[in-house]
Amino acid sequence: VVARGRSVLNPSAAPAGPGADAAFVCEVVTIGNELLSGRTVDTNFAFLARVLEAAGARVLRHESVADIPDAIATAIQSAMSRVPLVVVTGGLGPTPDDVTRKGVSVALGRPLSLDPEILENLRTRWRARGGRDPMPPNNELQAMVPRGATVLPNPVGSAPGLQLQHEASTLFVLPGVPSEMEAITRASIVPWIEARAPRSVSYFTMRTHGIWESVLAEKLADLPTVLPGYLVAFLPGGGGVDVRLRLPGGDGASVDELRARARSALAERIGPYAFGVDDDSLEGVVGKLLVARGYHLAVAESCTGGLLAGRITEISGSSAYFERGVVCYSNGAKTALAGVPASLIEEHGAVSEEVARALARGIARESGAQVGLGVTGIAGPTGGTPEKPVGTVHLAAFAPEGEWHRKLALTGTRSSIRDRSVASALDLARRLLAGLPQPG
Ligand code: ATP
Ligand code: MG
Repeated sequence: VVARGRSVLNPSAAPAGPGADAAFVCEVVTIGNELLSGRTVDTNFAFLARVLEAAGARVLRHESVADIPDAIATAIQSAMSRVPLVVVTGGLGPTPDDVTRKGVSVALGRPLSLDPEILENLRTRWRARGGRDPMPPNNELQAMVPRGATVLPNPVGSAPGLQLQHEASTLFVLPGVPSEMEAITRASIVPWIEARAPRSVSYFTMRTHGIWESVLAEKLADLPTVLPGYLVAFLPGGGGVDVRLRLPGGDGASVDELRARARSALAERIGPYAFGVDDDSLEGVVGKLLVARGYHLAVAESCTGGLLAGRITEISGSSAYFERGVVCYSNGAKTALAGVPASLIEEHGAVSEEVARALARGIARESGAQVGLGVTGIAGPTGGTPEKPVGTVHLAAFAPEGEWHRKLALTGTRSSIRDRSVASALDLARRLLAGLPQPG
């Protein structure tokens, strides 16, 4: 197999250096009837794709195959004829529908035989978990391995992984249970790739909120000249758009230097829309701002029904700054729990700037927290009016730094309107606490 005049089966012949692609290529085969019926979403592939690429192997192709030995054999054979590395996951378990071993055996023409060491491990595990003696014969199937296979320890489950060499290609076979597949990948496959790939791939991600993808792209139009060799990807998600840069191959600069260059170029262009990097989250960033100021936070939410408090408390350690959250869905609850005057609701309606401000101020006052957030809106699909259509959401943030209000006009499903309201409320707090300009 030849690409651009060089053999992809011989990774050592691949050029490294600035901007070079990860030249070590691989394919992934995921196995299971449940994947092809759509009952199980193929998260194993997504995991493998991310981790293999980060280790330095570029995934060129992915195939999902039903639990049929011949189909599995064909998929493995053709993948191994194309690339030096093939990773297979699923169907290693003890039930009759787990036929991956059979497929591997057929693909490589290697008979299966019982591995006494695996069998002993299985028996020990069986007894340790209180299984009655003797272990059912079905379980012994997990100790059958194709001739010449290296057994890869499974630190979190019973079925070990397998590694096989055939001509110029290496095959890894992993169980389908996501936690087991992940553990064996990290312990056995990642180091194997890192020892062979020309270089690993690193990324820098700048996370943004409140700016359109197209506007972001405009602001970053000069990036190719400012950051030559970096590959830019715009990844829109629920709470905003991530700008992900793949760092260039070594021009002598360390990964830290390459990241620092990316960070300053992006921060300069994106400004207050950028809320964090890599794995940062809005709720995490808000949490840090609160801790730094010694503030507590309380929230009063209507249309988001507790989702805002849920997001805030996803952060371990949020008890240091999160005082309370109340869901005040009815008008009566807004008055009883957040001290919103009934007359204010009557005059302006529950979905209004005045009520959002009163919720934020009121919950801070009622709880003794320095910071209050209020959310009230119409998540739809019913309940909209010409003056206040579905997607009208009023947010307010109250803090020693000031009191801000923001009106959103969102479109989308009930669930996306609620999620985006939560993200925008967190962002309002972030900007207010950080001394940044008001959004909108
Ligand atoms: P087991 O010992 O549990 O039988 P196995 O290696 O045979 O392990 P499977 O039977 O294929 O694995 O799958 C076990 C579990 O892992 C199932 O619940 C299945 O839905 C899940 N799973 C398998 N493959 C994937 C995948 N590609 N993505 C996400 N989940 C998966
Ligand atoms: Mg199974």
